[in-house]
Amino acid sequence: MLKIGLTGGIASGKSTVLEFFKNKNVPHIDADVVAREVVEVGTPGLAAVHKLFGDEVIRDDGSLNREALGNVVFHNEEKRLQLNDCLHGLIRERIDEIAQFYETQGAPAVIYDIPLLIEGKWYERLDTVWLVYVSPNIQVQRLMERNGYSKEDALARIQSQMLLDDKRFFADIIINNDGTPDELYKQLEKLWHEKLLPLYNK
Ligand code: ADP
Repeated sequence: MLKIGLTGGIASGKSTVLEFFKNKNVPHIDADVVAREVVEVGTPGLAAVHKLFGDEVIRDDGSLNREALGNVVFHNEEKRLQLNDCLHGLIRERIDEIAQFYETQGAPAVIYDIPLLIEGKWYERLDTVWLVYVSPNIQVQRLMERNGYSKEDALARIQSQMLLDDKRFFADIIINNDGTPDELYKQLEKLWHEKLLPLYNK
């Protein structure tokens, strides 16, 4: 089973690309969903977070208070690293488990949808990395339009992430999304026909 890591930057078009492959019935693993799952009520993940950060981050109904947790780690780098250490292993295990499930189902390929794929060194464990790239000025424009941000806000969000130009180095395939949606879909159809369909026809 081909393990494809799909990544991008904020508003580069990763969701749009993923939608295309979902429509082709390629299974995918959403790391954001898994990250929420591992801290659901009653999980070892939530117990660990509770132990690390105290009652302050737990709501009355026993669920995680994300806002409170976000506030703690936003102001404390050491705590942020502790949180990452604590949850990273759990997230990885769960992601491996889901991949295993698709493999036993006979899926020829699975897409790992992981926003921090490069930063979390996921590329070491995957077969190929596909990057949805846009040029900096287009990224700002699309983010302003999608989220209604001012230019300053959009720039601040983009600059808080690893730059797409730096991510290119880690990618095997770069999907350039500077053009029209049609131009994007042409590249995706080509990828589908060249990289994935042959695996399905084996
Ligand atoms: P991401 O998931 O990487 O944050 P999205 O797929 O949500 O990015 O795309 C960001 C925004 O740009 C969305 O509003 C989307 O509809 C729009 N968009 C994506 N690709 C194109 C394109 N080629 N041309 C114009 N708008 C686009």
